[in-house]
Amino acid sequence: MPLDRTPSASAQGNAGKVLVAGAGIAGIRASLDLAALGCDVTLVDSSPAIGGILTKLDHQFPTDHCGMCRLLPEVGTLDSARFCLRKGLVHDRIRVLPNTRVQNVQGEPGSFHVEIRRRGRWLDAARCGDCPAPCVDVCPVSVPDEFNHGLTRRKAIHRPTPLGLTDTLTIDAVACTRCGACVDACPVDAIHLDAPDETGEIDADAIVLAAGNALIAPGAPGLDYLPTSDRVVSALQFERILGLAGPSSKTLVHDGHPVRHVAWLQCVGSRDAKHDRDLCSNVCCMFALKQARLTGAIGAGEIETTVFYMDLRGSGKAWEDNLGATRRAGTRFVRSRVRDLSPAADGGVRIRTLDEATGTIVDLHADLVVLSTGQKRSSDVVDLAGRLGWNLGSDGPSLLAPDCHTKAAPGVFLCGSVTGPADIASSVVGATATAGEVCRLLVGLGRSVGPAPSPPRREVDEKAKTLVVSCRCHLHAEGCDTVSPEMVAGLCVE
Ligand code: SF4
Ligand code: SF4
Ligand code: SF4
Repeated sequence: MPLDRTPSASAQGNAGKVLVAGAGIAGIRASLDLAALGCDVTLVDSSPAIGGILTKLDHQFPTDHCGMCRLLPEVGTLDSARFCLRKGLVHDRIRVLPNTRVQNVQGEPGSFHVEIRRRGRWLDAARCGDCPAPCVDVCPVSVPDEFNHGLTRRKAIHRPTPLGLTDTLTIDAVACTRCGACVDACPVDAIHLDAPDETGEIDADAIVLAAGNALIAPGAPGLDYLPTSDRVVSALQFERILGLAGPSSKTLVHDGHPVRHVAWLQCVGSRDAKHDRDLCSNVCCMFALKQARLTGAIGAGEIETTVFYMDLRGSGKAWEDNLGATRRAGTRFVRSRVRDLSPAADGGVRIRTLDEATGTIVDLHADLVVLSTGQKRSSDVVDLAGRLGWNLGSDGPSLLAPDCHTKAAPGVFLCGSVTGPADIASSVVGATATAGEVCRLLVGLGRSVGPAPSPPRREVDEKAKTLVVSCRCHLHAEGCDTVSPEMVAGLCVE
């Protein structure tokens, strides 16, 4: 099933046309809200899959639920309800264009002309079907997998997100050597390595810029005071280590070593005036709290957890509860900005620092150190705004930045973490507010805006069937391993 379905005829005519750039959680939320109000939405993203950082979070603060699943009820068509948003966004009024970049924008509100470039479709999604993917098996290229932040490797032809639909294979044009092995292995001629890039123009009444932030990587300029090693990982790498589809599902091992003590270093690359990063990144305290609590739960009392912090910054009704629960679960909190890491004899990491709360020196050994690195705007969005003369405002927390604003230019709206580091909840709320602002503009332009009729429900007359799924989640379904295939077979009824 191709991702780029054409919006339904009902979404055309006098409907407002909106281009949303960036298919992370904010862009998806804004697109869904605009589509629900009858707009014709084109959602573009430079990556081959939608969802952004959220697809990598198996557990979302504060409830530990899968963040993408929370949006499912909003995607109300019968077709889409079967799919997790990790796999694809399907909506009659939303056309999704992956691998697509905005090249240029001309015009004004009500008559923008947006030039886009889509990477050549080397893999024909319409032909690629239910298949054991011999094309992947024969590919000789092995490169670090960005989904797991380099903790695993992948082929040049690969699925950008796990658990994707069968058509979500993509070919990494940089890593691919054009050897042709996958072409020969494909039984349906679905791979065309010479497919050219496609360019086109989209007419839009308004533009929503929802391209998100990039996390600063360990070892980046300004962070070189903390040595990098395979025992020092970023918060997103650790998120993948904790993930059920990640590299060390079920038991916490890293690089073949069992982990007995994990330490988090907060404010790495944030609140650091010396390196021109004096603003708080807003989300990393929540990340660390959640990860420490989950690590304790996985270790069942066998894994020590220590958080080194300057301040613990979080808000919302669940923050205090989570902080209390994490403390009660045994996580140790040390008030200190750590600047001294050294390798331990057993391959672990030695941390020596001053506990500012007690005035004592803390000297401990950790098997794994997690850097809660800060965020910065993605270079793509900064380049685009620079070329088009759009004003993104300061690169800080949106509520604190003195020139906080939600428009980069007339008719060009901002939402999500492009306005500053934002957590998921505020990204979603902000995206809905942005959709409202866009609709106000559309009404002023004379476009029809209002609740769109729901697509007709398809009658289902098949015999009811019940599917029993044996969940192997180590946190929510203890004891699932005791469910045998025979027991599951016995429970299936028609
Ligand atoms: S052509 Fe590229 S993707 Fe296909 S097998 Fe060769 S290296 Fe892999
Ligand atoms: S071999 Fe062909 S049909 Fe099968 S997964 Fe690969 S591209 Fe798709
Ligand atoms: S959210 Fe916490 S760890 Fe992140 S910059 Fe702010 S205070 Fe530091």
